[in-house]
Amino acid sequence: MRMDFLTLFPDMCQAVMGESILGRAQKKGAVEIGFSQIRDFAFDKHNRVDDCPFGGGKGMLMMAEPIAQCIEDLLARSHTRPHIIYLSPLGKVFSQQKARELAQKEHLAFLCGHYEGVDERVLERYVDEYISIGDYVLTGGELPALVVADAVCRMLPGVLAEDVCFEEESHYHGLLEYPHYTRPAEWRGQTAPEVLLSGHHANIAKWRREQSLLRTKKYRPDLLETAELTPREEKFLEELHENPGEDKD
Ligand code: SAM
Repeated sequence: MRMDFLTLFPDMCQAVMGESILGRAQKKGAVEIGFSQIRDFAFDKHNRVDDCPFGGGKGMLMMAEPIAQCIEDLLARSHTRPHIIYLSPLGKVFSQQKARELAQKEHLAFLCGHYEGVDERVLERYVDEYISIGDYVLTGGELPALVVADAVCRMLPGVLAEDVCFEEESHYHGLLEYPHYTRPAEWRGQTAPEVLLSGHHANIAKWRREQSLLRTKKYRPDLLETAELTPREEKFLEELHENPGEDKD
């Protein structure tokens, strides 16, 4: 997979993508990442990329032409036509499901807006998809692009130690993840659940699944409406409903 960031702040994106697991993923060749500076495509002597919005109003807008040229430069250099994403509060809110879908693409390009946003015409011409990371407004599209890129990258083959790492995590199967513990078994008077120290894999798996159900019921009951549950799990949740005192998580 290749990812490109089209931004006024390439250093900000590079700093995050170059660290830790994502940095190692690039070194291993699991993902190739490029950064394009939109300002390099400014056409006046002051390198301006923004102007006042027609119709008045506060703030500045990113102009269409520097962005168009930046995108066309990327298209000319690319072997595959990138799937172009504009990060915007008007997009559908990002999810693990969307990350899985994007991880199947060969090439993603993230267009990061700034100021009051971007001239609509350039979006209409090039953008394949709008993605929001939540119902709030940030100063720019760089953080949202990095959020999406991070979630997608860790699903690519060879990025995490084992693919099962993300398959067991929150949201992958529609539930929240179970709680984790590590050494020491007793810490400041609090003990780790005995079953986890038992070495009994079937019991551990059962406990973890039940904990996932309990936590989802407690923190995100809305997720249970669409989660795929076995009849036994449905019954487990029904019993909890009847005996709420057992819900100790
Ligand atoms: N005027 C715009 C509006 O009301 O929707 C907000 C512009 S915001 C200050 C500047 C840029 O940040 C946007 O063009 C977009 O790229 C990015 N952005 C802000 N909040 C975002 C969010 N929740 N999700 C994705 N991108 C966001």
